[in-house]
Amino acid sequence: MEMFTSIESALSSIYGNGVKIAKTSSIAGGDINKAYKLVLTDGSQVFMKSNTKENASFFTAEIAGLNAIAKTKTIGTPRVLGSGTDETKAGCSFLLLEFIDCNGQISNYWETFAHQLADMHKAETEDFVNGGKYGFLCDNYIGAGFQINTACDSWIAFFRDYRLKPQFKQAAPYFDAADLKKIEKLLENIENILVEPKHPSLLHGDMWSGNVIAGNDGRVWLIDPAVYVGHAEADIAMTELFGGFPRTFYDAYKESGLLQPEYGRRRDIYNLYHLLNHLNIFGRTYLSSVRRVVEGYVG
Ligand code: ADP
Repeated sequence: MEMFTSIESALSSIYGNGVKIAKTSSIAGGDINKAYKLVLTDGSQVFMKSNTKENASFFTAEIAGLNAIAKTKTIGTPRVLGSGTDETKAGCSFLLLEFIDCNGQISNYWETFAHQLADMHKAETEDFVNGGKYGFLCDNYIGAGFQINTACDSWIAFFRDYRLKPQFKQAAPYFDAADLKKIEKLLENIENILVEPKHPSLLHGDMWSGNVIAGNDGRVWLIDPAVYVGHAEADIAMTELFGGFPRTFYDAYKESGLLQPEYGRRRDIYNLYHLLNHLNIFGRTYLSSVRRVVEGYVG
């Protein structure tokens, strides 16, 4: 995809010469980027995220993730319109996406979402990873955290080597000798905790409620992905991390058969990855939760 050298040139190229921004309004809710609704002189609406030039790779990775989700043709995800860096605006990087009018009321929203997410999890994944079954075409980000997506033939090895280990390594200053012993034991024993999935799934990767939108068009939309190919259970585990989704979501998702027996015993280790990421980004408030999960598996 073409990288534009200014927001104006991107908009002219997409919407036609002479189309300019008529109105810019800030949108709250993002953790990492500044977000805006742009209304153009031809009446079009565009969603724009911006960050510093140095953080342009956030958007390159997000584009790859959004395109992968779109390719499954299973669930809504905003179309990528353009991206680049704008030297006229202090060298900001920007991403332009289809604007979703949200806060729609969708009947059977949670069931619809669960079924579409399961369909995404059942989609073919060969196009999303090269040289192995798990991972992704490029590395990306989970929030502000860097996420390694090196291809791997084993899900268990992938989760150990590219999910838990790098986060544990980064968080090393928080741990004492007793913690480190338990962590080593957990990693050594991981084959007895995790299971290989029946087939690989494209995951959203950051599956909390803020990243699902009910569109006014009656569709469910996934935004802000941290995609990779892994075990579908990891996405469902994350929905349970901060309060959980309604019962109807889980009942509908279970019909897919993607959760293997004793999923409940694995849920916390999937979420350990996100807790460690939070520990590394936000600090020691998350340390006791990390310790609790590790102890839950190694005693
Ligand atoms: P960040 O990358 O900073 O976490 P998000 O992708 O979460 O930013 O977007 C910030 C907010 O903008 C979200 O809370 C969501 O409500 C809104 N949003 C995200 N994508 C779109 C879109 N394509 N159309 C309209 N609103 C959007």
